[in-house]
Amino acid sequence: MTSKLNHWIDGRSVVPASNEYRVGDNPATGGAGAEVALGNIDDVKAAVASAENAARAWRRFPSAKRGRLLGDLARLMREKNQELAELEIEDTGKPLAVALSEVENSAAYFEFYAGLVNLPVGDVLDVDPDQHIYTRREPFGVIGIITPWNVPMNQAARACAPALAAGNVVVVKPAEASSQTTIALAQLASQVGFPDGTFNVVLGKGSEVGTELVRHPSVRKVAFTGSVAVGQTIGHIAADRVIPLTLELGGKSANIVFEDADLKFAASEAVRAFTTNAGQICSAGTRLLVQRSIHDEFVTAVADIVRELRPGKEVGPMITRDQYQQVQKYFDVANQEGMQAEVGGNLPDDEALRGGFYVNPTVYSNVDNSATLAQEEIFGPVLVAIPFDTEEDAIRIANNSDFGLISAVWTKDISRAFRVSEEIEAGQVFINTWSTGAVQTPFGGHKYSGYGREKGIEALNHYSHLKCVVVAY
Ligand code: NAP
Ligand code: MG
Repeated sequence: MTSKLNHWIDGRSVVPASNEYRVGDNPATGGAGAEVALGNIDDVKAAVASAENAARAWRRFPSAKRGRLLGDLARLMREKNQELAELEIEDTGKPLAVALSEVENSAAYFEFYAGLVNLPVGDVLDVDPDQHIYTRREPFGVIGIITPWNVPMNQAARACAPALAAGNVVVVKPAEASSQTTIALAQLASQVGFPDGTFNVVLGKGSEVGTELVRHPSVRKVAFTGSVAVGQTIGHIAADRVIPLTLELGGKSANIVFEDADLKFAASEAVRAFTTNAGQICSAGTRLLVQRSIHDEFVTAVADIVRELRPGKEVGPMITRDQYQQVQKYFDVANQEGMQAEVGGNLPDDEALRGGFYVNPTVYSNVDNSATLAQEEIFGPVLVAIPFDTEEDAIRIANNSDFGLISAVWTKDISRAFRVSEEIEAGQVFINTWSTGAVQTPFGGHKYSGYGREKGIEALNHYSHLKCVVVAY
């Protein structure tokens, strides 16, 4: 059964001005997915107008009450976690446990920022005995939020929770391929009592609805998560409009394993790093840098774990048909470049999975960092293992990438761990562990991975701006 999905504007379901819908794919079967409203400029105008109407009252809403609403939303999301996970599965095909943990993580954002509504504060500046000078952080007003299809609910929650907590109102444009849970989130927000217009969702194509959202003169800040190419397009519009932008883009993160590491744990974490969400995560650890002395043994250990992961069970499908084709294209490139897969590099044999967008988790060994598969983000469960000799080599190879999102260092030598972590060009570095989803930790990139920060207390600074007030006695 498919559902017909409309915009959520001004606290209610709104049919698209075009009256047109696009039928999506069900990635687990290859059959029809949800019917998603094809919005246009009129829908964007309606959503932004509703947000603008709501902005002043929301900014002046007592912060404790604002926090209570965020907390109530977190509670309701947890109550409805099965329903929300099922919607996410319809759009993305991910395993139930993965979808449930995504819902939990999404709820945790609202819970965390519910307690921080009073935090965007300022300072008192001691300048002149006859003046009282202070700074205060104020919301921007209408925030445009554009999210990708990989962890759709999480992406929406990650941006909406701090934006709303800081006193902004939001208009969200989720990816066409997976819009259902963002609409559900907005519906639940209305249900717990968020005033109409504070939380709007407008559906449709990025090139149309997304672009119009960034162009709209009343949108005062944009938070974008997605590809570098679209980030650049949006960046040009934001520059012309002189509005701030947060860009959370791609990654090609290096997971660096030295010979003295706890190799057993490092191997299992190396697998988690690139197979979580079937590798469709910007922070996936897709370059495994292994010290040459242990390269073969370590890669064998990784490949042995990967062989146990079953597509359709532990590993979900590629979420879009395009992405499914994209990953297969990289398998072809690997063949052309003479790369040898230790495991995978192909599609599952299982007939039952044939309609769906499944690929086998894949490990290539002894790869040179200049190979296409070592430089380009694949956004699928594909790992390249790259040997290195010295600490300096490891740092050089890790940083020889357009991206700089996350990285990990595995060693028992604490001095080396700190040295390497300081040299790595990435927004976050993990030592003897792999990435955390914890909502408290600030997150963002260096280089083509983007700028600005989401998550943690830090995000509140990106959803508010500073005013300085000077009072003469
Ligand atoms: P994408 O193609 O850049 O799309 C992201 C969003 O932008 C979608 O909602 C899309 O809409 C919209 N969009 C497309 N063209 C647009 C335009 N011209 N103007 C405004 N909006 C536009 O990325 P994706 O294919 O969904 O996701 C994969 C990419 O996202 C990967 O590169 C990955 O690394 C990155 N990512 C980064 C993070 C992070 O936190 N750093 C997290 C997840 C993913 P439609 O697709 O609906 O048309
Ligand atoms: Mg895309």
